[in-house]
Amino acid sequence: MLGSRVCARLVGVENTVVEAMDFDEVSGDLVVRVRPFKRCMNRCGICGSRSPRFDRGRGRRRWRSLDAGTTRVFLEADAPRVSCPAHGVVVAQVPWARHGAGHTCEFDAQVAWLVTQCSKRGVSELMRIAWHSVGAIIERVWEDTASTFDRFADLTRIGVDEISYKRGHKYLTVVVNHDTGRLVWAAPGRDKATLNQFFDELAASGESLSSCLCKWWSPGVV
Ligand SMILES: [Zn+2]
Repeated sequence: MLGSRVCARLVGVENTVVEAMDFDEVSGDLVVRVRPFKRCMNRCGICGSRSPRFDRGRGRRRWRSLDAGTTRVFLEADAPRVSCPAHGVVVAQVPWARHGAGHTCEFDAQVAWLVTQCSKRGVSELMRIAWHSVGAIIERVWEDTASTFDRFADLTRIGVDEISYKRGHKYLTVVVNHDTGRLVWAAPGRDKATLNQFFDELAASGESLSSCLCKWWSPGVV
């Protein structure tokens, strides 16, 4: 077998020892058996603090990784539980995936990028994952990404519009930065209460606007 470091690079994981690689006889998938570096073991899956081991959890589990050509790849490892002083008994953190996720961080990143380029159905078919998995990945990647920047910073001029879905039965209110064209905010609904959620969040951020253009603006909406 290739060295552990080479294998780790091939499957896109860090702080991880690759123990073995085998093909699953039934599915034909490539299964990469891994374990975290010692310094990354026994950490709370939520906050990452070092915590005493509680039990073996549900034993071995698998995480979907990026494909190797046309072959699906899974990482397989123990998933013990630890006892965190802040969060109680939780599954231990692993370096290759977010807490509670069934896909690796690299896999999540590729799906998140793809949904900015093509349809959700297209991503589902290309990545060979269920439709609802695409949505779950978007949510957890956004949860991490949203905390890394202030979406209201330097926001002075906005445009407000609506888009329909479910064959026109449901609507999203969307707010874009008029200077950059970047999407700033979106939420289900298209009424005053929906838009007020945006202004409440904006006020809480301490930022203010110089102008607001609403395609569906009507007296009393803004
Ligand atoms: Zn914790």
